[in-house]
Amino acid sequence: NTPLHELDPDVAAAVDAELHRQQSTLEMIASENFAPVAVMEAQGSVLTNKYAEGYPGRRYYGGCEHVDVAEQIAIDRVKDLFGAEYANVQPHSGASANQAALFALAQPGDTILGLDLAHGGHLTHGMRLNFSGKQFDVVAYHVDDSGLVDMAEVERLAKEHRPKVIIAGWSAYPRQLDFAEFRRIADEAGAFLWVDMAHFAGLVAAGLHPNPVPFADVVTSTTHKTLGGPRGGIILAKKEFAKKLNSSVFPGFQGGPLEHVIAAKAVSFKVAASDDFKERQQRTLDGARILAERLVRDDVKAVGVDVLSGGTDVHLVLVDLRNSELDGQQAEDRLHEVGITVNRNAIPNDPRPPMVTSGLRIGTPALATRGFGAEDFTEVADIIAETLKPSYDTAALKARVSALADKHPLYPGLK
Ligand code: PLP
Repeated sequence: NTPLHELDPDVAAAVDAELHRQQSTLEMIASENFAPVAVMEAQGSVLTNKYAEGYPGRRYYGGCEHVDVAEQIAIDRVKDLFGAEYANVQPHSGASANQAALFALAQPGDTILGLDLAHGGHLTHGMRLNFSGKQFDVVAYHVDDSGLVDMAEVERLAKEHRPKVIIAGWSAYPRQLDFAEFRRIADEAGAFLWVDMAHFAGLVAAGLHPNPVPFADVVTSTTHKTLGGPRGGIILAKKEFAKKLNSSVFPGFQGGPLEHVIAAKAVSFKVAASDDFKERQQRTLDGARILAERLVRDDVKAVGVDVLSGGTDVHLVLVDLRNSELDGQQAEDRLHEVGITVNRNAIPNDPRPPMVTSGLRIGTPALATRGFGAEDFTEVADIIAETLKPSYDTAALKARVSALADKHPLYPGLK
């Protein structure tokens, strides 16, 4: 029972340094968040020791009476949270959830229709090197010149290719999707509709984004982005898909579920049903809107910085650097230098290669969790704008970042 710092000082040092990094910088990667201490406590609990292949009440191992309770709580809570008929809380990650969902709905060789990766889709929606692109016949839809998903193209491709599955969901898109319209097109084409709400699930839980569950056959999500829980995945669906989905997750793709993570998911679903969570998601949205507004001011546009689609309805902003002297990599590095963490991101029809890109994806969930409000997000937006200008004062900008980090301490009890 030797503590980590004594048993393994090398790993402990990396953990300590990461805590310090999170506390002292501003985390604006749109897919990241800060899990509550109670979530981390459940995740670091003795449940990590337990094998529990199967599902609550139907396990292939003895001694599952307590993990059954935790897993059933997670299932019941997430069904309530999103109004779903069925839930599977075992997928180890978002990609695992997507793999299990896709193989439950389609066979290798079937056609799938998803948003192009370069236009904001996810790897698991049909990227060439991913299982989805290797094993399925992929047709991709795109965003139009205004940056919005081209629903006329979705309809045309669906009629032409008759896909088995239409995928609605994204990793980098600043607007909301029209789920009713996707449903209509899927019905006309005889396709299943799968919505991947990994990014915006927290907004849905808070009632601040349309809920895809009533429209889709299957909905997948991660639990660690806007939802703010432990790293992991979930699948929600109509009852009729229950058997297929359960067997696709286990024994289809996974063995023993991570019961410690499932317990942590249960805790995060409780948090997500609270008024505090709703208020936090509202600040997340307000923060992204403030960011978008302040990055399209004349003095910022003058240095070639723009915002894709002109704004945002969600928790992130896509910055268009095609006319800036900075490419995505340089902008990411420069923000890192002043203490703001973002990721470079390809934008639609990006003239630069994927490792460089001409865009940035900037998200507000982690800072909203940290307690940032409108005034703080205004200051963050202005720091970002100043950093992207040709003449910028690193020391002064770093000091402004530190002041914000100090104003909103992260995990004050942890050292
Ligand atoms: N789906 C979407 C839309 C995502 O953006 C992501 C992650 O970036 C995933 C799935 C995959 O989640 P994970 O990284 O947990 O596999």
